[in-house]
Amino acid sequence: MSINIKKINKSYGNEKALINISFNVAKGEIVGFLGPNGAGKSTLMKIICGYLKQDSGSISICNLDKEENIILIKSKIGYLSEKNPLYLDMFIKEYLTFIGNIYKINNLDMRISEIIQKTGLEIEQHKKINELSKGFKQRVGLAAAMIHNPDVLILDEPTTGLDPNQLDEIRDLISEFGKEKTVLLSTHIMQEVNKICSRVIIINKGKIADDKLISDLKKNNIELEDHFRKLTA
Ligand code: ADP
Repeated sequence: MSINIKKINKSYGNEKALINISFNVAKGEIVGFLGPNGAGKSTLMKIICGYLKQDSGSISICNLDKEENIILIKSKIGYLSEKNPLYLDMFIKEYLTFIGNIYKINNLDMRISEIIQKTGLEIEQHKKINELSKGFKQRVGLAAAMIHNPDVLILDEPTTGLDPNQLDEIRDLISEFGKEKTVLLSTHIMQEVNKICSRVIIINKGKIADDKLISDLKKNNIELEDHFRKLTA
């Protein structure tokens, strides 16, 4: 199993952000993680990636327990956070070199050329990050998340704020990566889930409200948007 989440609880002070969250994601799945604002999506993603600690419950990534193998697990996960923090004054290659060195990647120049090509950054590769459009900044974020060739990609709202063309391009990229990787993707956009995900997990007020294959929803003529509204009303 690529991601195994068991009975995760997390509170901020008195506020319960996650209540008894459990699910598994198998290798090769692209899972859409849907929920209203404040439902707990970012909190769970940060916990999976090791940036936050759960209060109780356990997580394993590629069958490795998070608490016992945190360094190894970080090398298996690529994370694009909602804010996509980038060093805006760096050139694209400079930034990817900086990230690649943190992961101690061998043949880094070759890997950077490969990831620049994969993420469609070639035409802009001579630029500084602050000279890029939002869509290209997202590509740099994805390139950085993928540079160490992780098995699992955790993407927190990777398409928010993109124009329709950029949206399609980034979705195509995620679909392409999803052929080889396991992807957990949070989004507010139902179409996106219908288009690129094989499964949807809906979270509401810190609890799992549903976990379904997109093909099952379609088979039963259930519109994802209506379903989501009913579950989160
Ligand atoms: P989502 O990503 O689904 O919008 P979050 O995980 O960001 O949800 O937030 C879940 C709940 O936890 C919200 O009520 C939010 O206000 C609260 N929360 C998130 N981060 C913090 C924090 N650092 N300190 C206190 N409360 C937080």
